[in-house]
Amino acid sequence: MFDLTHFSPAQWFFVPAIIFGRYVLYCALPFLFFYAWKRREQLYRKIQQHFPKPSDYQRETLYSALTSVIFAVVTWCCLGTPLRAYTLFYTDANQYGWWWLALSVPLTLLLHDAYFYWMHRLMHHPRLYRRIHLLHHKSVNPSPWAAYAFHPAEAVLEAGIVPLLLFTLPLHPLSFWAFVTLMLIFNVYGHLGYELFPKKMYTHPLGRWLNSSVHHNLHHEKFHGNYGLYFTIWDRLYGTLRDDSMKKVEEMHSRIHAQKGSISQTGAERSKAGSQLTF
Ligand SMILES: [Zn+2]
Ligand SMILES: [Zn+2]
Repeated sequence: MFDLTHFSPAQWFFVPAIIFGRYVLYCALPFLFFYAWKRREQLYRKIQQHFPKPSDYQRETLYSALTSVIFAVVTWCCLGTPLRAYTLFYTDANQYGWWWLALSVPLTLLLHDAYFYWMHRLMHHPRLYRRIHLLHHKSVNPSPWAAYAFHPAEAVLEAGIVPLLLFTLPLHPLSFWAFVTLMLIFNVYGHLGYELFPKKMYTHPLGRWLNSSVHHNLHHEKFHGNYGLYFTIWDRLYGTLRDDSMKKVEEMHSRIHAQKGSISQTGAERSKAGSQLTF
């Protein structure tokens, strides 16, 4: 268990590498599966029917490495310096009880979603967009490697959620690690470029509030709307959920449905042909 508050200066030195290493691991697994091993078989799930260039992957990974350093420095400022005394970070799980420890995780996601939505909208102000956010939008057809591909100034703003959480919510190292892990998984999923959700999720009374890879992919492709991270709450409240989101979902799922149909048909034809074989 990583209790960051007891890290020595030497251990803090490795935190950028830990953050970047986790990013590489969480990106490499879906990348190897979808973009290499099952590239052809899973093409029907690909939201945009073409692939980014190797130079896109390189740019995304390079800026993600820089972002990892910035995330580490911001975390170090909060937990590795005397500022630690002003945070509500605690290490004794019994101090607030296990119910709070469990509840604090979804709370961090809700807070982060609100923070991300408004920061993201700010990034789309024409002046900030050109100078800062444009770099992230160079990935018009994003891959998992785009998860942390931010301009350094945007990376600082992205990391702003860390002090916001640590200075306002009592967080145990377990909840903090759960939060950063879920944040990474959602970032990778948002930029995955493949549809994984069932169609029903988009109309389910609870599921419709969850953000999806299709939503964020549309944001990258069309540049406006769908600003949320984990949820569609703020996009729905402020009318920024793209009108064509459901059209894209329908289009994706009719292709998935057709592909599945043709696979089962081919399978049935094969077994029929097999049963007709005489020896
Ligand atoms: Zn954007
Ligand atoms: Zn993005």
